[in-house]
Amino acid sequence: MPQSTVNHLGETGARIAMQLRRHEERVTPAKVAVLGALTRADETPPHLTARELGAATAHLGIRLDEATVYRTLTRLEALGLVHAVAMNHTTRFGLDTPPHHHAVCDRCSALQVITAAQLDTLVASACALAEFSPGCRQAVTLNGVCGACAPPA
Ligand SMILES: [Zn+2]
Ligand SMILES: [Zn+2]
Repeated sequence: MPQSTVNHLGETGARIAMQLRRHEERVTPAKVAVLGALTRADETPPHLTARELGAATAHLGIRLDEATVYRTLTRLEALGLVHAVAMNHTTRFGLDTPPHHHAVCDRCSALQVITAAQLDTLVASACALAEFSPGCRQAVTLNGVCGACAPPA
């Protein structure tokens, strides 16, 4: 049990360790550090690339090579704790909670988080129209142009 990682992340680390155990998942420094790096106090969850995650976990005192970061992300994705958002030339990763959707700018690759409440009713009616039953985790990614790239006329 990597007590030092958990200690380093304080309350967040303890909460992450508990979450992993709830999934009957082994608690490793890599998993705790990656989830810790994706956890923010504010309500907008960050979405980081594998490279950014490597830097962020190093900041937390855990050095992970890129292969380990990817392996850890794959595992956390399989557990439903993390999701990937495909961008123009890269992939960003974020936490599944709180539930949210994404808006990605095709020009500058900015990623905006859209809260679930803003879209859920629309997604539900769109699914009803298409006679489609959405899965329990339904995230929508909108592609387009952000306000900074195309200021309103
Ligand atoms: Zn996300
Ligand atoms: Zn943009």
